Amino acid sequence: MDRIPFSGIREIFEECDRLEAAGNDIVHLEIGRPDFDTPDPIKDAAKDAMDAGHVHYTSNYGIQELREAVASTFARDNDLEYDPNGEVVVTTGATEAVFVTIMGLVDSGDEVLIPDPSWTYGAHVKLAGGEPVQYRLDPDDGFQPDIESVADAITDRTKLLIVNSPHNPTGSVLSHERAQALRDLAVDNDLLVLSDEIYEKIVYSGGSHRSLATYDGLRNRTVTVNGASKAYSMTGWRLGYLGAPESLIDPIVRVRQYTTTCAPSLSQWAAVHALQSNLHEPLVESFAERRLYVLDRIDDIPGMSCPQPDGAFYVFPTIPDGFNDEVEFTWSLLREAGVAVVPGTVFGSTGTGRIRIAYTNSINRTREGFDRLEAYL
Ligand code: PMP
Repeated sequence: MDRIPFSGIREIFEECDRLEAAGNDIVHLEIGRPDFDTPDPIKDAAKDAMDAGHVHYTSNYGIQELREAVASTFARDNDLEYDPNGEVVVTTGATEAVFVTIMGLVDSGDEVLIPDPSWTYGAHVKLAGGEPVQYRLDPDDGFQPDIESVADAITDRTKLLIVNSPHNPTGSVLSHERAQALRDLAVDNDLLVLSDEIYEKIVYSGGSHRSLATYDGLRNRTVTVNGASKAYSMTGWRLGYLGAPESLIDPIVRVRQYTTTCAPSLSQWAAVHALQSNLHEPLVESFAERRLYVLDRIDDIPGMSCPQPDGAFYVFPTIPDGFNDEVEFTWSLLREAGVAVVPGTVFGSTGTGRIRIAYTNSINRTREGFDRLEAYL
């Protein structure tokens, strides 16, 4: 456990809790959690499931109805054919999908390529006894993967390549050309791939999402991870899923049966409804407006800049002029102005001199955050 750090985001949350308990008003620009309520028809589906008595353990793979809805979603949205009986697993959030994939596929001493910056994959890899090896996303190239850095990181111990697009924390969307280059490296070096596509539905004009597993030769070496949390504002329901060839599902389900057994049954029924709906569309429209608002405000602050993000709900700008250290800046902004953001280095060394801002709040609240930031500066 000495190898497993406490999450840097958690420290910020805890300080926010302390400050709020002491009566301070904090503007939350740190949290990757949409502020919307879950759409009513999805809640109704869970209520109906409760009334119908769907309150028991389910299969480790998930209820049949949801596995079929997941397989149809993969076919409709991603052009990926997965057999609902044997190639789809429903998980307790995408977090568990990532966890069981890494635990199932990574042996002690195996190396796993993870983007720098990235979400928490490094800790998952260490929990499995593996070695995370970072490859660089290039800030001067819209945070696309630096293919040379990926190639240089590959050794004969490399087992798995992790790709996340649309990307947390930068909002970048993997370009077709880089996806092909990653595909070539994975196939040539016989790597497995974990493609985390949880932000898939949150893509703005100019960007388009294509599942990595659709690239030639990748389907049978890739685990595609997705979930309901982000697009349907269902973070608390804990509902994720993955699709993969049967040979990879086998080790994953071995782990899955000893973690949470199954995703919450009511959440599974709610997700059947969510995946078959267009209920994410108004949420994505709001994110699009918030994104433009945030980019506009960033533009006005000397020293702050970032490549225009095409997806997810994050920006990853440089810190304002006059500050050298993103950690110091984050803490003083929180304590002196009541605005919470995340220091970029929580996500890797490419985050040096940067912060992550999530535009998961209303425009009014986001405006308040930027007004305070400017007053503080
Ligand atoms: N992948 C990425 C890139 C994320 O940002 C998150 C949530 N922050 C997840 C997976 C996990 O989402 P959940 O467990 O809520 O489905």
